[in-house]
Amino acid sequence: MRDSGCIFCAIATGQADASIVYEDDSVIAFMDLQPVTPGHLLVVPKTHTVGLEDLDEDIGIQIWKVAHQLARALRRSGLRCEGVNLLLADGEAAFQEVFHVHLHVFPRFAGDPFRIDADWRVHERGQLDETAAAVRGGVVALDLGSD
Ligand code: ZN
Repeated sequence: MRDSGCIFCAIATGQADASIVYEDDSVIAFMDLQPVTPGHLLVVPKTHTVGLEDLDEDIGIQIWKVAHQLARALRRSGLRCEGVNLLLADGEAAFQEVFHVHLHVFPRFAGDPFRIDADWRVHERGQLDETAAAVRGGVVALDLGSD
């Protein structure tokens, strides 16, 4: 259930300090220690879960529901919030740093310091279709949509 040495497990069990904004039976939400903007929150499952591979689907739904409502709460908080980003980093290559799954929720505003750098050019349809076929292979491997 809990991974000793995991900071988010320690927060979930009250053994480490956090500025908590919401808690229910399965998830807890608190302020990120290194906020990209004031109001930057993390929503995490109370049960130790590394990432999307081992995340229970119903807990994932609850994480999203709480993040959705907290994003709405940010807009009513008085904090500067002209927009909101929800961001989940799954795996080291995706810049996951704490290996207990967490969904970032943070306010955005004109001129804020958050940046995502990528190659945004449009790809050809043939290339997109080829990539889609690879993803569909993954969908088949997971046996999705068969029930
Ligand atoms: Zn943990």
